[in-house]
Amino acid sequence: MNSVSKPLLRVQNLKKYFPITRGFFNQVVGHVKAVDGVSFELFEGECLGLVGESGSGKTTVGRTILRALAPTDGDVWFRVNGNEVDVSGASAKTLKGLRKHMQMIFQDPYASLNPRMTLLDIVGEPLLVNGMTDRKEREERVQALLTQVGLKPHMLRRYPHAFSGGQRQRIGIARALALYPKMIVADEPVSALDVSVQAQVLNLLQELQEQLGLTYLFVAHDLSVVRHISDRVAVMYVGKIVELAGVDQLFETPRHPYTEALLSAVPVPDPKRKKKRVALSGEVADPARPPSGCAFHPRCPYVEDRCKEEVPELREVAPGQFVRCHLAEDLDLVGMPD
Ligand code: SF4
Repeated sequence: MNSVSKPLLRVQNLKKYFPITRGFFNQVVGHVKAVDGVSFELFEGECLGLVGESGSGKTTVGRTILRALAPTDGDVWFRVNGNEVDVSGASAKTLKGLRKHMQMIFQDPYASLNPRMTLLDIVGEPLLVNGMTDRKEREERVQALLTQVGLKPHMLRRYPHAFSGGQRQRIGIARALALYPKMIVADEPVSALDVSVQAQVLNLLQELQEQLGLTYLFVAHDLSVVRHISDRVAVMYVGKIVELAGVDQLFETPRHPYTEALLSAVPVPDPKRKKKRVALSGEVADPARPPSGCAFHPRCPYVEDRCKEEVPELREVAPGQFVRCHLAEDLDLVGMPD
């Protein structure tokens, strides 16, 4: 990340609420606030990890940025050819042009590939949709893409069922790369894979990032995976970012109790290294009825009276480290040294 460069993506106060309806007339009786005021910037060539438990809103952030879901409020700006384009308010025509630059890799390589399509059709589909009607030209581009992700070019007439989970995820990556994107939202791209295959796919993503200058928003719940690939990390809780920092800063000196609890739950491979475990009791709060004050207060071991009433703001407590906690400066939290 270059602090003086302009961001490739700017997200400002993004909100995505899902209505809760009841009765015969589908009367709206409330909202699930899946994303509730998320702001961050993503710089060209960097990987920002977005982590949190299931239900934290991290996947919804990724989908709303790409307009797979329409935002309820807020702005998303994406830089193309030196100009910022408003993604959140873009027309269908503008969106079609933007999607060349912004692609997604999905969590489940089994569900995300059509079993009745060959690799040529799966990987070549975005090329066809964007005007590459010449079949020969498409075949050559698909073969090049398969090679790029570590598959054999002659496999292009095979169907997804002939491939392992790791290979299917490579097919998904090849499809995402087809139109030379600048940014990829990777939504838990290795969590459905065997541990032995996860490292191979992560290494591939890193190699591609270096070769092609890609920018990643990497959504995951596994902190070890996020540490491996990210430059900065944003931690989400009940629709909000509660901590955002450089990857080493966040792992070594966390400043939010939720980050500390997530880190303490990561297994340490060396049995001689002891770690203080911070119990994370209870479930993620219901985003339809978030607790008053700090949404983390019912689970926080450091809670004080004011945490139950005053909503903490996200503020910079150390250079480049932003935290949403009233006591961020006073707590001595335990990190996870490398
Ligand atoms: Fe815990 Fe209070 Fe900080 Fe919330 S504001 S994380 S309840 S100490």
